Amino acid sequence: NFSSSPPKVPPKPAASPPLNRQNTKTLPPSPPRVISDKSGRLTFRRLGFLGEGGFARVYEVKDGHNVRLACKVVTKASLKTKKAKTKLYAEIKIHRSLHHPNIVRFKDCFEDDTNVYMTLELCTSGSLMDMLRHRRRFTDPEARYFLIQILGACFYMHTHQVIHRDLKLGNLFLDANMNVKVGDFGLAALIESPGERKKTICGTPNYIAPEVLFDTANGHSFEVDTWSVGVIMYTLLVGKPPFQTKDKDVKTIYKRIRDNQYEFPSAPYAISSEAKELIQQILNSDPTLRPTLHSVISHPFFTAGICPAYVPTSAHDSAPDFS
Ligand code: ADP
Repeated sequence: NFSSSPPKVPPKPAASPPLNRQNTKTLPPSPPRVISDKSGRLTFRRLGFLGEGGFARVYEVKDGHNVRLACKVVTKASLKTKKAKTKLYAEIKIHRSLHHPNIVRFKDCFEDDTNVYMTLELCTSGSLMDMLRHRRRFTDPEARYFLIQILGACFYMHTHQVIHRDLKLGNLFLDANMNVKVGDFGLAALIESPGERKKTICGTPNYIAPEVLFDTANGHSFEVDTWSVGVIMYTLLVGKPPFQTKDKDVKTIYKRIRDNQYEFPSAPYAISSEAKELIQQILNSDPTLRPTLHSVISHPFFTAGICPAYVPTSAHDSAPDFS
């Protein structure tokens, strides 16, 4: 029968009705204007909103002495599972144990009926990610200045048995004097016995080391941070992360990381041969062959070029002249 009567399928509605008519993300209520712990010993005035991450919102606050701080707010409603609580406790335990000029200082931690609060050193100049967006790419002296501070923080963390596991431009904050402050210890891990290997797959696609993704049997350790420093260095100098694809498809990024497939730009955006060589050394797929942080900092990229003692705030808009 070749008749062209339409098949008997129920007509499709023009658009399926929304399951939840409120399609907009429902934001948790703002924390109170005056934030205080249960005893009333700690009191802060809430000022502006600074930003939000995976599970926290961050506000600027002022303490009783008018000192400005950042306050990370996590709603207790988001801490219903044991896993969420364990993660937050781990972040607090690790972050509060670290004291270094290039690590966001952890001040206090307290709660009220609705939220858990963490007060932190305030970083008023945004993140290196924001700055890179403005500038497109950085000069070698600026990259040296930022990387030396990042490497210093990293060395300190590693000597205190902490792996950050999420080093990326968006987690590298800047204070008013353009000092780098490593923040967000939400994925950090403590190595509790020598040789211990971590097995959790975590990180941010562009910055994640190959062994985290592809050697889950063997696990990973401190060298994942060194890898991220290599990705950071490439990104500072080139203007985009090495394994990123145009469509930013995560599977393709992971394939590129697995195959160690990245390219250096050619003129006029070519980077120096010292920078290239160091990036290639760091982005070694085999973590045991990656340079130590000490040999990274001893590389000619750092030793044979200008390394400024400070970077002016005007660097947000244009490259400073260090000649
Ligand atoms: P999450 O752990 O939820 O990812 P983050 O620690 O990354 O949260 O913080 C989220 C955002 O809040 C950051 O991207 C940044 O804009 C802002 N922020 C976090 N910490 C500070 C700080 N110490 N000073 C200034 N802004 C901050």
